Amino acid sequence: MRMRMIINKKMTLWLGVFVLLLGGVGCADTSSENTGERLYSRQYLVFGTVLDVLVWAPENQQQALDEALLAVEQRLNAMHHQWHAWKPGRLQAINAALRAGRSIELTEEERQLIQRARALSEQTQGRFNPAVGELVHLWGFHADEFPLHSPPPDAAAIEQWRSQHPDMQNLVFEGKRLRSRNRAIWLDFGGIAKGYATDVAAAILRNHGFPNSIINAGGDVLVSGKKGLKPWRVAVRAPDGSWQGEVVAVIPAKAGEAIFTSGNYQRYTEYNGTRYAHILDPRSGWPVKAVASATVIAPDGTTADAAATALMVAGWRDWPAVAAGLGLNQVLMLGASGRCEMSAAMAQRLSRSRLHCQVRPLKPVAASEPRQSAAQEQPKPQERP
Ligand code: AMP
Ligand code: MG
Repeated sequence: MRMRMIINKKMTLWLGVFVLLLGGVGCADTSSENTGERLYSRQYLVFGTVLDVLVWAPENQQQALDEALLAVEQRLNAMHHQWHAWKPGRLQAINAALRAGRSIELTEEERQLIQRARALSEQTQGRFNPAVGELVHLWGFHADEFPLHSPPPDAAAIEQWRSQHPDMQNLVFEGKRLRSRNRAIWLDFGGIAKGYATDVAAAILRNHGFPNSIINAGGDVLVSGKKGLKPWRVAVRAPDGSWQGEVVAVIPAKAGEAIFTSGNYQRYTEYNGTRYAHILDPRSGWPVKAVASATVIAPDGTTADAAATALMVAGWRDWPAVAAGLGLNQVLMLGASGRCEMSAAMAQRLSRSRLHCQVRPLKPVAASEPRQSAAQEQPKPQERP
């Protein structure tokens, strides 16, 4: 297996393997005598994550495959510079313009991704909110290396951020140009970039004539086609030690599915014995802490990535409503102390499951039903270290 570094700078290898690949997928030389096909593997480093590209392809198409993989590499490399919120590049230029109250001309791809992110933010009622960049910065979660040991930001600074309500709906598209009605916006696509990268990589492979692939971005996977006659299989790993063992279930993935997990403990700051996760509740300005991991199956990586982040923020009470709002019905939520909830459709997908989960219906929260306020889920000021 060859590790091809497409980024020269030192980066954190975030091997967030909540989801492991099973069935010999990690082996580049798995071949099938019957079909003349075999598994090819290439690794790239993008957005702080190892992106594993596995292609099931005919053995006699090595040259075409090399060309396809080179195209993937070039595109991922460009995307890393285009979409990184905290390194010099296009997104920083866009953010600087929005902050200065200027409008900026977007490429068609930029316009489409920002609009997509805005729609996903709206569908999750702002729980997925990539306009939280300034808050991410306040908490120090823009760092390359984790864990951190910095204290939480000053409560007044969080309140100041909250009072400005940076929101994707503040963005105004005027033809090819973008501006913001709110200068507190700083776009951070950390919650969606890996998903988008998997979609782009799979599309490039497909366009080069390779429809059977699995793209694994640090445990988040996008499945296209099949591995010979067998489906790709994805193992769901326990988020922490309280689950006795690593693999808690296996999902035989179907073609065209993205299986993504967000977790609260791989990137965090630990201070005075308390861990603060890198996923932030935009309503409170504080990290989520109720749920340890959220796994979701969606029709594409971009949606799955945003959804997993939003489900973490939604917490135990609201995850069914957030899933329903996104039109997704396969969700698995795990808590640190062994709590487990999932949807009926997810229950049907799990094989070899060691989980005993409460199955909950996905129905939107009624308008009259009071929503759990962000404050209920967050530590009170006097409880903070
Ligand atoms: P993920 O691991 O996909 O859940 O993404 C987490 C990353 O998304 C963080 O490192 C932040 O850069 C960013 N982020 C944190 N909280 C949010 C949120 N509520 N909405 C959107 N992006 C977020
Ligand atoms: Mg995400």
